[in-house]
Amino acid sequence: IQVAEQQQALELHAKSLEQTVQERTRELIAANAAKDEFLSIASHELKTPLSSLKGMTQLLRRRLERAGSNEASSLVNMENSIRRMEVLVNDLLNVSFIEMGMFVLHQQLCEMGELCQRLVNEYVAGTNPPPVVRVEILNEHSMVSVDVERIEQVVINLLSNARKYSAAGSPIRLVVRQENGECIVSVHDSGVGISSEMLPHIFERFYRVPGIEVQTGSSVGLGLGLYISKQIVERHGGRIDVQSVKDQGSVFSITFPLSSPSDAAIDITNIAP
Ligand code: ADP
Repeated sequence: IQVAEQQQALELHAKSLEQTVQERTRELIAANAAKDEFLSIASHELKTPLSSLKGMTQLLRRRLERAGSNEASSLVNMENSIRRMEVLVNDLLNVSFIEMGMFVLHQQLCEMGELCQRLVNEYVAGTNPPPVVRVEILNEHSMVSVDVERIEQVVINLLSNARKYSAAGSPIRLVVRQENGECIVSVHDSGVGISSEMLPHIFERFYRVPGIEVQTGSSVGLGLGLYISKQIVERHGGRIDVQSVKDQGSVFSITFPLSSPSDAAIDITNIAP
């Protein structure tokens, strides 16, 4: 009889534990959803005032330039700060889309060498002072099926990291090549590098190497760029890799399956699970 009673007590205990776990799980899911919603609303609400601020600053700068005023240069600094804030707000928005499973890809067939060359030209032209970026296209006709806007985001993120985490003026190299039916784009820098202990963490959400601001004078960044890049590349069926040696430099590579040039242009709307 005693054994039966003990068994019954144990079963009751197990049941109440199970209920507690279920309740806590529900609470955590609700808290997580509220956090995602907050992130999404906050970043969305910040986007609108930022873009009107950007428009007004540009207008004012052009007027001052036309009037020959040397006050115009201080507005250039303001525009740069607004642009940096825009990048941060967009990163937050992207993360909330990823977390809510609302990340949509519109894939189309494109030639990776051409895409990267265009991106590098735009990046260099739009950056002050212009960085030195050498493009090496080792294989022509690297056809891939990608969401061009999203891949632009990834390549620009890798280029701007290469610049941010290197000495001013240090050259960057972007290589496009094919290997085993895959297209590989790699971005090489000779910057601060990443130690082997930190390397496994750099694709995590909000991760920044401790002390990186002091080391490089770069306070800009939320530690989201590589997390977002990894999500984008993986949603394409590709992968992102890094090789780095502390104080010597880093190589970030993104790899995609090659498509045949005869593949019809496709536009797949791929909603994340
Ligand atoms: P952010 O640049 O906004 O901090 P990222 O997610 O792009 O965020 O990068 C995460 C961290 O990885 C950076 O804070 C930096 O410490 C490290 N990192 C990224 N790219 C490089 C690079 N090219 N060289 C050295 N460290 C890098």
